[in-house]
Amino acid sequence: MIERSQALAALAHDEFDVVVVGGGITGAGVALDAAARGYSVALLERADFASGTSSRSSKLVHGGLRYLQHFDLGLVREALLERQLMVALAPHLVHPLPLVVPAFDGAHPDRLVGVGLNLYDVMSRERLRARRGKRSRSTPKGAGERPAAAGPALLEDGDSWSPERHRVISGEEVLELLPALAAREPTSGYLFYDCQTDDVRLVLTVLGEAERFGAVCANRLDVTGLLEQSGRAHGVRVLDSESGERFDVRAANVVNATGVWADQLRPQELHEEAELPRIRPSRGTHVTIRHEHLPLVGGAIVPAGSGRTIFALPWLGHTLVGTTDNDYEGPLDHIAPSAEDVDYLLDAINAFFGTELAPGDLTGAFAGVRPLISSGDPKKSVDISRKAELYETSSGMITITGGKLTTWRRMAKMTVDRLVERDARDAPCRTHEIPLGQAVAVEELPRVEGVPDASYQALANRYGHAARQVLALAGEGSPAHPALAQPIVEGLPDLLAEVALAARHEQARSIGDVLLRRTRLGLLAARQLTAAPAKPDEPAPAVRRVGETLARELHWSAEQLELELARFREEAVAEGIAAAGAGGKGLGAAGAHQPTAMP
Ligand SMILES: Cc1cc2nc3c(=O)[nH]c(=O)nc-3n(C[C@H](O)[C@H](O)[C@H](O)COP(=O)(O)OP(=O)(O)OC[C@H]3O[C@@H](n4cnc5c(N)ncnc54)[C@H](O)[C@@H]3O)c2cc1C
Repeated sequence: MIERSQALAALAHDEFDVVVVGGGITGAGVALDAAARGYSVALLERADFASGTSSRSSKLVHGGLRYLQHFDLGLVREALLERQLMVALAPHLVHPLPLVVPAFDGAHPDRLVGVGLNLYDVMSRERLRARRGKRSRSTPKGAGERPAAAGPALLEDGDSWSPERHRVISGEEVLELLPALAAREPTSGYLFYDCQTDDVRLVLTVLGEAERFGAVCANRLDVTGLLEQSGRAHGVRVLDSESGERFDVRAANVVNATGVWADQLRPQELHEEAELPRIRPSRGTHVTIRHEHLPLVGGAIVPAGSGRTIFALPWLGHTLVGTTDNDYEGPLDHIAPSAEDVDYLLDAINAFFGTELAPGDLTGAFAGVRPLISSGDPKKSVDISRKAELYETSSGMITITGGKLTTWRRMAKMTVDRLVERDARDAPCRTHEIPLGQAVAVEELPRVEGVPDASYQALANRYGHAARQVLALAGEGSPAHPALAQPIVEGLPDLLAEVALAARHEQARSIGDVLLRRTRLGLLAARQLTAAPAKPDEPAPAVRRVGETLARELHWSAEQLELELARFREEAVAEGIAAAGAGGKGLGAAGAHQPTAMP
């Protein structure tokens, strides 16, 4: 990405066709789509890119089996098509993931789930069939005969990918995918496929592509209001939260992509309240656990009481468990997991896997709020549709919200189609053919002295071809950067070189930016990032290492470094990761819990 100072200069002086407010996946998608259609685009993010809901998801790129229960067929079909496309456009970032619904004691797997999976198969293969028809190509032989755990089990069809049909697998195959179930001796199960990603990296990658098409993106820019003339929005007022300066960004079109904050950016006058969405935030909590404590190769659908289920998923070398789905009314800037939600997730996991995991066994916990759109109906948040909605005020501002991580491209298309229609331009959407980053084979990465073996695969997955940049930094080895080849946290693959890269090329400005988003250590290694109870003011060594690397990159004084270390301490507490690090005691703010339905 371009340097923040360069972005600020362009934002203050240039006039844009489109200004996008919000740097989550929706805003990033709109910026890419609009820029790729020839618009000049500015994107402004109040905090850090993806710091809202887009860093707090279950990390699934999926159709959403449970939406079939609500007969939300259009949403599932659309999401399944997007899933297929994302694997093709970003194969290093969006990976197929086998998922298992196990059965025990010789029972046949639940037939109702089988019916849902049949429908899921049909929908995910619709486009593939259409393409095959067009090209009269035959299905590769033997594709359905592979064992459950033998790789991603995909059918290849030129540029198109689609998972195998679901099938019933034996107890042994269930155990290959879910070793954590060994004590329960599963006898069979359904196997099906969805996909998984790193949500923040997806956002950063889409932003990077938007910049390739000329978009100018910057974080730490709070949009405080609209510039209006004769009732029409023609830009936004901005507060730079780093410098405290205020300035205007002029643009012919304003797109509000602020997720759960979408009802807060308002023109001076509305004809009617229905011009803006009414957001009903719903909190979802996740916890992470060491792989050794709950080993998974594939994901498990785990019953969680009252006919509800949660996911247990392998993710970045750990196990990720979630999610809950509760109406939420607290402040939106930092969302902490509630202790009740954590207990609920642990109870479900322990009952299912026969484990005795306690809050003290967690490696992290995080929560986020879904930007659900209220229809005024008092139904449970879990039952509210995840469909995206587009609103247009009489000032011309377009608001796009709701939806899912998976459907970001459709949401962006819907928004930019509206702009194109308004401008009577002929500019079709191109994002279905724009690769997101560039995949790299791990063997192609240069070996650098001091870099642990496990880091190469992790770098290839996170950055694709750009992993070479990280390795070049790791190899710098100058006296000024003596340790960039070393891991941030001993035993985990993330490198100090990534901290330098984040500061130089990804607008990371704080320790939290690096630990919570550019890497995901805040979610996976909370214990190593929080102060020892005996020395609450002394940063953990890993945090100090990150702080010192950022200080070199961003030219912080010794005083500023101490200030930033203290800020991260506060952020860790506000996000609830500190509590996970301290053994789960006092996790976040308490809140009424209500389990989620089929994921
Ligand atoms: C617990 C949970 C699990 C989920 N799991 C999945 C999943 O597995 N798969 C899936 O497809 N979807 C999932 N989702 C949904 C998905 O995460 C969201 O739909 C998506 O991330 C929303 O992205 P967004 O860009 O609209 O909002 P956000 O990511 O919240 O982005 C909005 C941005 O706007 C910024 N902003 C706000 N106000 C201003 C302002 N005035 N000026 C400038 N910037 C501003 C914010 O700082 C924020 O960064 C999940 C959601 C939750 C909560």
